[in-house]
Amino acid sequence: MSVLLSWFWDNHRDLPWRKDRTPYSTWISEAMLQQTRVTTVLDYYPRFLERFPSPQALAAATEDEVFKLWEGLGYYSRARNLMRGAAYICEHFDGELPSEPEFLLQIPGIGPYMAGAISSLAFDRAVPAVDGNCIRIYCRLHALPLLPSEKSTYDEIYARVSRDIPKENPGDFNEALMDLGSLICTPKSPHCSNCPFATTCSANLLGKQEDFPLKKPKKETPVEDHTILKIYIGEKILVRKRPDKGLLAGLFELIDLPGILEIHEVESWLITNLGIKKGASDIRPLGASRHVFSHLRWNMLGYEVHLPASSAKADKKRKNITSVKADKKDTSVEISIAARAEALGKLVTPEEYDRLAFASAIRAYR
Ligand code: SF4
Repeated sequence: MSVLLSWFWDNHRDLPWRKDRTPYSTWISEAMLQQTRVTTVLDYYPRFLERFPSPQALAAATEDEVFKLWEGLGYYSRARNLMRGAAYICEHFDGELPSEPEFLLQIPGIGPYMAGAISSLAFDRAVPAVDGNCIRIYCRLHALPLLPSEKSTYDEIYARVSRDIPKENPGDFNEALMDLGSLICTPKSPHCSNCPFATTCSANLLGKQEDFPLKKPKKETPVEDHTILKIYIGEKILVRKRPDKGLLAGLFELIDLPGILEIHEVESWLITNLGIKKGASDIRPLGASRHVFSHLRWNMLGYEVHLPASSAKADKKRKNITSVKADKKDTSVEISIAARAEALGKLVTPEEYDRLAFASAIRAYR
């Protein structure tokens, strides 16, 4: 395995989290890198560390603050886990990440891969960090016909890496596997001629690189249709916060209606839910977009809706606004629609709107 370290020292990527490494910065970078491209994380990592330079700072932050800095990185459960983890580290480990995997594993959000990465990269412990890259490389090196998602595969590869990882430079060894998996031993069309294992890798010698590891038969991704409404009421915009559990938990969203609605159906919804008179709303199509989650696809159609003050004259007579005292007609109208809107979500000013963390799924309509 010394060829791997030599290759790494000559070819390693110059990444910001590899400079001035601390256990905390390693934890943050590893959390950001899960399921996310290195190039995407490059922007987020320094901003996040500057704003939250320690577990104490992160533990004291509000969820909205953390989500705002995380906006666009996706998989927000990672941000929530970092907050929970930071609180745990402050409470149980005096604000310092521990060095041994068994203690790291007690921290919410830290699993075996991350515990191995922190322990080896930040504390020089000879602990494997087995992820998808590592499994793919080992399956190819030894022509192992294993399914990556099986626990038995993980155990097998963990045992093999445990035998190979050196006592000196164990962090470099794990990082070398990460880089080799990202740059050379890629899932499709690996660059075997540039690989330090080219002459010993069983899959390469067999010419069957892409046969290892085994692939699970693909399942059809379920598809959901959504209509997204960006509704302006006066100067304000109607938003909602998603529930604390489930998909995109805790993030803000625009009004999201099931199905792909045509413009007249959107108008009907506005009449029913906001008391708008027929023909009085300004509805502008924003076009179609789609977002692919790991397990689900959303097809979306968006509309921007402006509710003019005149549309609500009839509202003055509605029961639920008779208590509203307003001298000017238009003001009374605006309040009545606003009152209905507040039952659906929250009206925010454009400045407040810009500070909220939204799901990147609706980026096209943001
Ligand atoms: S020789 Fe090819 S298949 Fe084997 S580890 Fe290297 S890049 Fe992967």
